[in-house]
Amino acid sequence: MLALQGDFREHIDALRAIGATASEVRTAEQLAVVDALILPGGESTTIARLLLAFELMEPLRARLRAGMPAWGTCAGAILLARRVPGLDRPPIGVLDVTVDRNAFGRQLDSFEAELAVAGMAGGPLRAVFIRAPVIREPGPGVTVLARLDDGRIVACREGRVLATSFHPELTDDRRMHEAFVALARDAVAARGSAA
Ligand code: GLN
Repeated sequence: MLALQGDFREHIDALRAIGATASEVRTAEQLAVVDALILPGGESTTIARLLLAFELMEPLRARLRAGMPAWGTCAGAILLARRVPGLDRPPIGVLDVTVDRNAFGRQLDSFEAELAVAGMAGGPLRAVFIRAPVIREPGPGVTVLARLDDGRIVACREGRVLATSFHPELTDDRRMHEAFVALARDAVAARGSAA
């Protein structure tokens, strides 16, 4: 769990609630030993600055390019994107999408919506959006996982990189965390069988 800023504690609680082992990552040494990484919601400009200050940006890019599973929620999704208009530092840039920050304006600072998530059993997911970004211009390798009723993309995946505009760590529905842990376990198993 990337733990520089934002709501990483809620994610850790969610992961532990489903029996996964979770640890905080603030240094390159801690990053080197995790199997997968969640990037939390928070303030993308602050997290981008801290990634540089903690000398995590390049090690993180290297691990993501080597296939480490990652999931960004809200600010985390912004950081994973290749194109982020108005972000004052380069994003990590491993997900072939454009992400517009604060895409819902002031009146809709925060809201909830029921989302049908592709591949997720058990009916719609109640999603919490807080000063949320919107995903657009998905590249050819990107699978769209969820859209709002108006068609705007709020969840997608490219390879082992997952992005959601919303905050599954703030509700009791653990299906997104379960899906990500399953993805991480598959990646570990694939690594094991390749060795
Ligand atoms: N608006 C924030 C940003 O641009 C993201 C908000 C969030 O993570 N809840 O970083």
